[in-house]
Amino acid sequence: MNVPKCPSCHQSDVRVLDGQYAICKPCSKLKRSVFQFCLACQREWPRNSPTTDSCTLPNCSLRAALLSNTEITDPHSSVRGCPYFRACPGCKALLTHNGKGCPNIICPHCRTAFCFRCLRQRCFGMGNIEAFLLANRGIESPFQGYDITPCRVVDNKQSLTVFGL
Ligand SMILES: [Zn+2]
Ligand SMILES: [Zn+2]
Ligand SMILES: [Zn+2]
Ligand SMILES: [Zn+2]
Repeated sequence: MNVPKCPSCHQSDVRVLDGQYAICKPCSKLKRSVFQFCLACQREWPRNSPTTDSCTLPNCSLRAALLSNTEITDPHSSVRGCPYFRACPGCKALLTHNGKGCPNIICPHCRTAFCFRCLRQRCFGMGNIEAFLLANRGIESPFQGYDITPCRVVDNKQSLTVFGL
């Protein structure tokens, strides 16, 4: 579990009141009204919310999973250092990698294939250098049209942006 932090001032001077419901003390002072937010999805708790039991904002659990700083630590996994959860670029389904085989996974819901490390759907990844050179010279290769810049582990920020979460 992440250390509780305020999504507005990013400080940890927060009071967790009820499960996901929290209040930031510095922000409340600054804004001269109670600044309440959801610990899980890191958004302001709606003023008109009838309850403080559970968050009613859309995609709360999806955002919470993508914002989590839990990483895959298995040294034998091809996706070591990646966030534990990814959102499928095709359908937003929350997916994880079983640690076996190459970084590419296929979403069981929409069959979109993508690289768990860099989130690209056509990642050249760790492909062999010969194929890379052929693709570079414009010679017919199975990698034509691929993004041949190196595969780097990215965080989930771009998923949140792309899906408007
Ligand atoms: Zn704050
Ligand atoms: Zn929430
Ligand atoms: Zn999918
Ligand atoms: Zn990749």
